[in-house]
Amino acid sequence: MARILVTNDDGIYSRGLRAAVEAVRELGDVYVVAPLTQKSATGRAMTLHRPLRAKLVSVPGARMAYGLSGTPTDCVIFAVARFGNFDVAISGINLGENLSTEITVSGTTSAAIEAATHGMPGVAVSLEVEWKKTLGEGEGVDFSVAAGFLRRVVGEVLEHGLPEGVDLLNLNVPSSATGETPIEITRLARRRYAPTVEERIDPKGNPYYWIVGRLLEEFEPGTDAYALKVERKVSLTPLNIDMSVRNEETLRRLREIFENGSR
Ligand code: MN
Repeated sequence: MARILVTNDDGIYSRGLRAAVEAVRELGDVYVVAPLTQKSATGRAMTLHRPLRAKLVSVPGARMAYGLSGTPTDCVIFAVARFGNFDVAISGINLGENLSTEITVSGTTSAAIEAATHGMPGVAVSLEVEWKKTLGEGEGVDFSVAAGFLRRVVGEVLEHGLPEGVDLLNLNVPSSATGETPIEITRLARRRYAPTVEERIDPKGNPYYWIVGRLLEEFEPGTDAYALKVERKVSLTPLNIDMSVRNEETLRRLREIFENGSR
């Protein structure tokens, strides 16, 4: 029986996590470790300066489910320490798409990245929803189409593993998708938001700040953002966690400058 880990960054009470468990429960033994509270946009943060509390939670379809007072990355580390490695680690179904190089901000994709560092194939899955619903628990959101695509991707990973050089898959499903919506294999867009800071004034007259992002609208064809936002297709991005540059010409030039001091 395959061993499947499910986590997310919207918390163990998110309906998206429960939909993910339902989607894959027939593919193996499902274990859940997920944050007790909303942890979106926490990236790959790890809790090192305070203890973690774990609570057994009932999640239909899961063999065992823990809510953890930490981040999505803490959850993956806890799951491996507690249960050993898994054949696949799923993170999602996230409330809101996770696109472009900004995925390192995402707790959802970061959990799959953490899993990949433990040698487990990761699948991050996100569903486009209205902005105001991204920090809720998925009330009124229909996860069924995203769940179908997740089942298909996880089934493939369990049967054949990830292709050479791929550590994780980042799956994004548009809100308008049906079972017939095509999948496009994509690369990350360079950028999706133009983040800035808004200043407000508190009741005592002191300024405070909110980070806000203006959505960009121009994306290159072939990118995840173009597939989802322009073509309205399901985007599947194969990712590698090695961010180092491999281009030999570039490396040769840098060696000349920094190793040989020839500039
Ligand atoms: Mn989230």
